[in-house]
Formats: sequence, C-alpha cells, structure tokens
Amino acid sequence: MTPGERREALEQIANEVRDCTRCRLHEGRTKAVPGEGDPDTEVVFVGEGPGFNEDRDGRPFVGRAGGLLVRLLGAIGWLREDVFITNVVKCRPPENRDPAPDEIAACAPFLRRQLELLDPAVVVTLGRYSMATFMPGARIGQVHGTSRPADPETGARDALVFAMYHPAAALRTAAIERESFDDVARVPDLLLRARERRAGGVTPAPETAMIDTASAPMPTAAVVPVTTPDLAPDAAVPAADDAPQLTLF
Ligand code: URA
Repeated sequence: MTPGERREALEQIANEVRDCTRCRLHEGRTKAVPGEGDPDTEVVFVGEGPGFNEDRDGRPFVGRAGGLLVRLLGAIGWLREDVFITNVVKCRPPENRDPAPDEIAACAPFLRRQLELLDPAVVVTLGRYSMATFMPGARIGQVHGTSRPADPETGARDALVFAMYHPAAALRTAAIERESFDDVARVPDLLLRARERRAGGVTPAPETAMIDTASAPMPTAAVVPVTTPDLAPDAAVPAADDAPQLTLF
C-alpha cells in the first residue's frame, strides 16, 4: 500500500466514524473524533475518548490533557504530527464519564482497522481503558512504563504496546506527572527495540514477553544511543552493543 493509499483509507475510516450511529454516544456528540497524525508513522498513541474540546473541534487531545501530551512528546524531541493519535471511543461520553463496555465494543472495529492500516511498531496506551484494550487484566499502577507484544487481534500485527497513565491523571497528581515523564522517556528506546524485533522476526516467548523497562536509562532526545535490552536473559532479542545512534523520525 502506498502512503497515499493509506492516507485515503484512513480518511475513509474517519468518514465512517463521523457518520457512525452504532452506539448511544453519537446522540450527544458535536463532532466525532476519528484521530489524526502521520499516516506513515511507526508510533500510535491511543487515549480513552474525546472530552469537551475534542468534541467541539473534532480532533483528539486538543484540551489541557492534549497540552500535557504535547509536552510529554516534546520531552523526547517529538511533535504530535510525528505520531498518530486516536482514542478507544471516537465520540464524547456525556459529562466525560468513563466509556461503557458496549460503547467500547461498538467502536473497537474502527481502532482495529486504523491499526491494521498504520501497522505501528509501537502502540502507546494512555489511561486505563486504552490499556485494557491491549493488556487485558493489567493494572495501570503496575504496568505503566512497561511493554509487551501486541495481540495481533487488536489490529497491530507486529507491535510492542507500552502503557502510560492518562495525561489527565498526570494533570491531577504531581507524582503521576513525574512518572509520566519518566515513562515517555523510555519510548524512543522501545521504538528501537520494536524495529529490531520487526526486522529480525523476533517473537519473545510469552513468559519473557513483558519488557520491564523500569531500570532503563532515560533518553532525553530523539537521537538516543541503543542500550542493551533489559529483557529476561533467554528472550531472543539481538544484541545491540555495536548498534549505531539512530534518528527516530
Ligand atoms: N482524553 C482522551 O482520552 N482523549 C482525548 O482525545 C482527549 C482527552
């Protein structure tokens, strides 16, 4: 598929989202929020659902939480235009309540199709509901800052999923904000690992699949040295000691 074809196919999904009446959320929406970003990106951020500002503008993460997301990306030298940003539900839940299971289920095919087209190397989940889509049963307090291979059923056929707190939670609690900056600093290195994995066809065995990056050094810019992966010793990931410095975008 050419980049132009991918862009067109994403726009086709966006149009279906704008016309969608699959769940009750369409009744209260001003604008649906399909998602936006670079159709050729390697990294997709998935939030929960649109809030007041997103519903007004039809764009994801344009309010205060979006401001923090932009700062988090800026901390690793990335722009929001470098990645693709979307949500688990594409219409605003009333009063910003949590999305209901049937609403998430009704919207899931849109996210799956977006991921199939984008074929990202890394999916970053923002918040509990996004995390639950990719890491069922996980607890955000335990898995934020860690990654695991995505279930191809999600549409991300060969990706690592990385969990982060929702930026709105980080806005409420200084400690979560600090942890979010620590977590996002691990994303560039994770992208390098994801690329290696995709290039080598490496599939970590399930019991070694969880990559605990808690002790990883913190890259501070978009150009970072490749570090030795901190996977369990028997995980089949190529050694990276002699890898060159890489520009991520
Ligand atoms: N919160 C989300 O989860 N998504 C948005 O697009 C905005 C706020």
